[in-house]
Amino acid sequence: MNAPRVSFVSLGCPKALVDSERILTRLRAEGYEIARNHDGADLVVVNTCGFLDSARDESLNAIGSALAENGRVIVTGCLGAEPDVIRAKHPNVLAITGPQAYESVMSAVHEAAPPVHDPFQDLVPPQGIKLTPRHYAYLKISEGCNNRCSFCIIPALRGDLVSRPVVDVLREAERLAKAGVKELLVISQDTSAYGVDLKYQAGQWKDREIRTKFLDLARELGEMGIWVRLHYVYPYPHVGEVIPLMAEGKVLPYLDIPFQHASPQVLKNMRRPAHNEKTLERIRGWREISPDLAVRSTFIVGFPGETEEDFQLLLDWLDEARIDRAGCFKYEPVKGARSNDMGLPQVADEIKESRFRRFMERQQKISAAQLKKKVGKRLPVIIDQSDGMSAKGRTKYDAPEIDGVVHVTSRRPLRTGEVITVKIESADAYDLHGFAA
Ligand code: SF4
Repeated sequence: MNAPRVSFVSLGCPKALVDSERILTRLRAEGYEIARNHDGADLVVVNTCGFLDSARDESLNAIGSALAENGRVIVTGCLGAEPDVIRAKHPNVLAITGPQAYESVMSAVHEAAPPVHDPFQDLVPPQGIKLTPRHYAYLKISEGCNNRCSFCIIPALRGDLVSRPVVDVLREAERLAKAGVKELLVISQDTSAYGVDLKYQAGQWKDREIRTKFLDLARELGEMGIWVRLHYVYPYPHVGEVIPLMAEGKVLPYLDIPFQHASPQVLKNMRRPAHNEKTLERIRGWREISPDLAVRSTFIVGFPGETEEDFQLLLDWLDEARIDRAGCFKYEPVKGARSNDMGLPQVADEIKESRFRRFMERQQKISAAQLKKKVGKRLPVIIDQSDGMSAKGRTKYDAPEIDGVVHVTSRRPLRTGEVITVKIESADAYDLHGFAA
């Protein structure tokens, strides 16, 4: 009897991607085959995103296409937390489960297409099925969030912070490193809060006791001899403790901090964690310890109540902070978010648009200036994609998918996943160009 074939759609952020990887790993471990197309598969699983209205539309459209092309569809992920919204548009889906509901997704799959027992199908690679290339992997350390940012519905969808015990995380990291992963991207909703819910509970790792805590985790990951990149960190005072690890070369000199804004009033209205912190001073202090620290961030323009003065403050702050990489979003009034009912005036669409443009222009100049400083240097570069003598890679200062790349030319063929030294010869607004030294 042939193994049932499942077609899989993964939408949303890296956290959803990790959920997809876990479900795919379970499916393969149980002998299911992963189909390339909906057509001809026994069923389709759609892992949805429900964060912004545009993401919700994308999710609903993906479900619609899967129904049209296949007809047997199971929905999971963030939008799955709102089954009414899905059923209103697509009443014929087979089952709906919420985020991180691996067991429920698997039971729905078992019901729709029972697994065929084949012991050889259990031979999945030890690191599971990864959707990222083999040389880097996302390491999810917690689920949910204790913050209540007014524009965000993630805590409503995913619940409060639940940290994975540190030993589980380290075991997974070690397994990935042994399987050939060269770069770990630590992700969560709030990495700096890691372990708060577990009261920093200690566990035995090798010959030592390690606490379920941001610093302890970073230190241990830093011993694994691979690149370790920290995402979704908030500028709390204790974050400064990991900067010496960056200066020592244990953890990459890179922090992904979603600042969202710089105006104290807007940050207060956003109910942002650490909104009272003196972030500029803090960044300056970090760069004294680790001078090449790269800071990447995301910002929202046009949040209700944002004035021209607030926005100007943000632009000036960007200059001062020298944010290396920044993404910018125009505020969207997500259904269910508190920011819609705070009595703050909405910013007109054309103003949002023009602020977005001004933000991007300013950031492009900063990014170009930061990159120019790298010209003439010899930097380690990890190769993401190779066509033999020419390749695309990244420095320590750039994360995959979201930041810039290094276009490399070489006299010898380059392999994906290898780390080489590149002499940087030129820079444009977002990318670097260089020669394999
Ligand atoms: S920190 Fe704020 S924006 Fe991020 S997940 Fe938590 S509530 Fe949402």
